[in-house]
Amino acid sequence: MSEIVLKGIPAAPGIAAGSAFILDKQEFIVPARAIMEQEVPIEIARFEEALIKTREEILGIQKKIGEEMDGQHARIFDAHLLVLEDRTLIEEVIKHIMKEKLSAEYIFSKVLKKYMKVMGKIEDEYIRERAADLNDIGRRLLKNLMEESKLHEFENLQEKIIIVAHDLSPSDTISMYNKNIIAFVTDIGGRTSHTAILAKSLGVPAVVGLKDGTLKISNQDSLIVDGRMGIVIIHPTPETQEIYRNEQTRIVALKDRFADIKDLPAETTDGRKVSILANLELPDELPIILKSGASGIGLYRTEFMFMNRLDLPTEDEQFAAYQQVAKALAPNPVTIRSLDLGGDKFISSLQIPRDMYPFLGWRAIRFCLARPDIFKTQLRAILRASVHGKLRLMYPMITGPGELRAANAILNEVKQNLREEKIPFDEQMPVGVMIEVPSAVVTADFLAKETHFFSIGTNDLVQYTLAVDRVSEQTAHLYEPGHPAVIRLIKSAIDAGHKENIRVGLCGEMSSEPALAFLLLGLGLDEFSMSPLSIPQIKKLIRSVSFKDAREVAEKVLMLPTGQEVEEVAIAAIKRLAPHVFTAESNG
Ligand code: PEP
Ligand code: MG
Repeated sequence: MSEIVLKGIPAAPGIAAGSAFILDKQEFIVPARAIMEQEVPIEIARFEEALIKTREEILGIQKKIGEEMDGQHARIFDAHLLVLEDRTLIEEVIKHIMKEKLSAEYIFSKVLKKYMKVMGKIEDEYIRERAADLNDIGRRLLKNLMEESKLHEFENLQEKIIIVAHDLSPSDTISMYNKNIIAFVTDIGGRTSHTAILAKSLGVPAVVGLKDGTLKISNQDSLIVDGRMGIVIIHPTPETQEIYRNEQTRIVALKDRFADIKDLPAETTDGRKVSILANLELPDELPIILKSGASGIGLYRTEFMFMNRLDLPTEDEQFAAYQQVAKALAPNPVTIRSLDLGGDKFISSLQIPRDMYPFLGWRAIRFCLARPDIFKTQLRAILRASVHGKLRLMYPMITGPGELRAANAILNEVKQNLREEKIPFDEQMPVGVMIEVPSAVVTADFLAKETHFFSIGTNDLVQYTLAVDRVSEQTAHLYEPGHPAVIRLIKSAIDAGHKENIRVGLCGEMSSEPALAFLLLGLGLDEFSMSPLSIPQIKKLIRSVSFKDAREVAEKVLMLPTGQEVEEVAIAAIKRLAPHVFTAESNG
């Protein structure tokens, strides 16, 4: 088999070599999972429950189609129902679960494949149609069986696998994270999608936007994923494998190259001090953050706590999580962002159709203002946790002072209730806004007067300014953080904040890209918040350059007309001023 190189979008750095596990390809590839004698009845019960659930689903679809179309169409599903009642098939599955002591989905997929093979050999139109029915219903049943056990399957895998999927939602990514999954590869997605952000923070290499990767890659293909370059190699030759093995060794050796400056301040050679903070998505990241040299948390994405569950987290549960982070980081600040649902982040507990809260829709603060019940619960939890450390609160997706005031009105109401209940909280807790919508930059002079800090969210600011969906691979080439419009908006937000003497931070992915971080320094940014894994490199960069040089380059860049020129000038500058920090190949 010859080597094939696929080019996608780099989403999370690192190199991984392993075998492909296709998540959503239309094939029944189910890893075998051994079960113990006492688990046999459980597996049989799971199989029977899946039969019932699948039957209910089919009846539901049939009913809906019957209402919307005619009885004829609805009857197509009768054949599916018959498959679910086929005693020969059901008994064969049960018999094999008992005999082979393997999971229900594995046995079912095997039996199904056998039936399909036999039917495939018969040259008869009617039989072929029945085979198609069997295929459809089999897939549905398998999905119902697998969904529940997916996590379990991955946890029990012995080999290291690379997940290859058409798409992965952030909640899929979290639920699949474990040590056997060594990389993620997807057909769609952009580099600031939350799936990419999560992969990066979990330290799992990822390449997104391959377009047709799931068609070209087969299950169990040998793969190399190069998350720095956005490359996936299918059937790598022994020479290629050797090159990447050496590369991996080199990256590991480089990993701690900046460890010596971990506890030193992020201060330029001419004395300008900035803060380097960490972004937190999952509590698992806390130990990494504590080791990273971060001087606090600049963005705590609380929405991930709401994912992969059927209920909403209670006030006490949220309080416990915020308190834990506040205590772990104290006396350093922890910036908790209120719930930012929507866009590409969805939760199951609300049962709201996904198309109701897209990026331009009912997202983030808009959702919270419409659902004060959910918002107030979170605010109470944050306020209660505020006495256990140094918390700051910030609202996402604020478009102007009106929304800020509306959010603060609810916050004040919650504070008043707590006072009446004699529950302590930090009366001085700073409240800031994320600057991630162009209208917030335009009204930043007003906002700065009514808030304690700004945090620029460039992942969204870029998409809203340039009208480029951050999760679309089709327009990924237009997603330019160095676009002059973006650079000028950032400058304008920083200036507006400074005019009112408030600190301005930035917590989008841009702050962890060395050349852009250098520009941000020159534009006057006070706080850089990023994935903890990027902190050492950026701190080293800041400590290697002068603010004077950075400011000069930033001033020059503000006069450039294209994003390409901006990036070229910034890269050339840091190659010249901090060559030991920035080498493209050390970016892993
Ligand atoms: C941003 O938009 O830059 C940001 C930090 O928030 P998120 O990526 O969670 O939308
Ligand atoms: Mg955002």
